[in-house]
Amino acid sequence: MRQDQEDPYQRRSARGYAGVGRAGHGPAEPTRGVLYDAVLLDRDGTLIEDVPYNGDPEKVRPVPGARAALDRLRAAGLRLAVVTNQSGLARGYFSAEQMRAVHARVEELLGGFDAWLVCPHDDSDGCDCRKPAPGLVYAAAHELGTTASRCVLVGDIGRDVGAALAAGAAGVLVPTPVTRPEEIAAAGWVATDLPSAVDEILRRQRAVQPARTGDPVGTTLVVRSDSAGDVLVTGPAIRAVAAGAQRVVLLCGPRGRAAAELLPGIDEIIEHPLPWIDPAPAPVDPDAMRDLTARLAAVGADEAVVFTSFHQSALPLALLLRMAGITRIAAISDDYPGSLVDIRHRVPVGVPEPERALSLAAAAGYRLPVGDEPVLRLRDDAGASRPTAAGDPGYVVLHPGSAASSRACPTELAARIAAALTAAGHRVLVTGGPDERTATARVAASGGTDLGGRTDLAGLAALVADAAAVVVGNTGPAHLAAATGVPVVSLFAPTVPFGQWGPYRVPTVRLGDAAAPCRDTRAASCPVPGHPCLSGVDPAEVVEAVRTLVPRGGGIR
Ligand SMILES: [Zn+2]
Repeated sequence: MRQDQEDPYQRRSARGYAGVGRAGHGPAEPTRGVLYDAVLLDRDGTLIEDVPYNGDPEKVRPVPGARAALDRLRAAGLRLAVVTNQSGLARGYFSAEQMRAVHARVEELLGGFDAWLVCPHDDSDGCDCRKPAPGLVYAAAHELGTTASRCVLVGDIGRDVGAALAAGAAGVLVPTPVTRPEEIAAAGWVATDLPSAVDEILRRQRAVQPARTGDPVGTTLVVRSDSAGDVLVTGPAIRAVAAGAQRVVLLCGPRGRAAAELLPGIDEIIEHPLPWIDPAPAPVDPDAMRDLTARLAAVGADEAVVFTSFHQSALPLALLLRMAGITRIAAISDDYPGSLVDIRHRVPVGVPEPERALSLAAAAGYRLPVGDEPVLRLRDDAGASRPTAAGDPGYVVLHPGSAASSRACPTELAARIAAALTAAGHRVLVTGGPDERTATARVAASGGTDLGGRTDLAGLAALVADAAAVVVGNTGPAHLAAATGVPVVSLFAPTVPFGQWGPYRVPTVRLGDAAAPCRDTRAASCPVPGHPCLSGVDPAEVVEAVRTLVPRGGGIR
């Protein structure tokens, strides 16, 4: 199920309090930016200064620059909603009437909003709308005529970002002095203040829209080396290229080949290792490089778009492409490219990998066609089926391993997670590669079915597609879940930035210590004894995360 096809919270929004602000706006005409239709804003601490349990319009003070920033969003055609927890209603600290007066004052000072969504409940009510639950985000998206994944939420605390991610929306944290350091560490996107959050939202939106698209191209060579996950996150950009080229040839590495075969838009695959990209590279073999250059020349490409992640260089390949006679080359390069690159593109750090790649495609003149959402996707005819041992859909997939051990869930913890999920009534399938079978057997012995080594990547994709949720680290299957619209409980080791590598545009709960010492080390094996970023995860948190992401008891036997 894609998250943008169904809204599990639709009928449970706090609509009774959505009183003010829509008069005069009417149902907005949908504006289809590539990334976002709407910006959702937390109220207290984000739009206005936080005055606890305020029922007095006279105490409303906008944060600096708020009016002008919101007007920039309005001018760009984005719809605006406020999403706010107001437990003071449940606690009787102010009345609904007082709150409406406060909201009227907010609109007087900041201009109108297209919707107001208020959770009136307290933590003890166990509602689905109090952030970090995703209910308000789903309700706001519905009110605005869009989907959660086409919304970006701006807030000042971890609850705001958590609600956004749990709904598959983007979340921007604008910390205040009361924001906890661990909330800042966990956020994938942090801005210093509301105006700069708005500027970055608008910049990202523009960055994936070409200034102008060129004439249709005959053959475009696209390149994405490295692992399955790297190839999967480049999928939207490859589809953009495919929309503007008659033929797309992909150069990938051996570790990305199986993923490449799952992606739409690719007509032909060339597989070749690149010693300046691969994590355990063989020495450079001049004959192999000559062979690769000849194969690239034989493609007869009109142009090439070289996709890389933020720590990889496109330049060695650009040289081979020049030697292969390719006259138009687009690549991201902070390093000076000389005459190796025709379209030199640069991207700030922190941009999600799929958008980073889409922005390079845009710089080269390609954009996703209208109706093709900027989400990860697999080809419809991949044709694999899941193992019969999987049973009926609705299970939870637990994938403890990773090619990089620094990003794997410790086996002992995974076993406790399997036991906790099983005890909570979930059917657990434990997956892993052929070399992970000892671990998957140990994990499944604590609860669940061991499918370690039982699927290839296509089979794993089919298995994941029928799951209620996937519990997984920062590794390929997390991107398979994103590509099939299945919610992810992300046990995310912070060795690389969550904002770049977290599951993209799919409901997600992030767990683990984001401030652990392995942060930003890009280490393949954990540099810290005890693997503290993940070993402290409480299995009860995983059970709770599945409950948040799968609200109607999906996955329960
Ligand atoms: Zn609520």
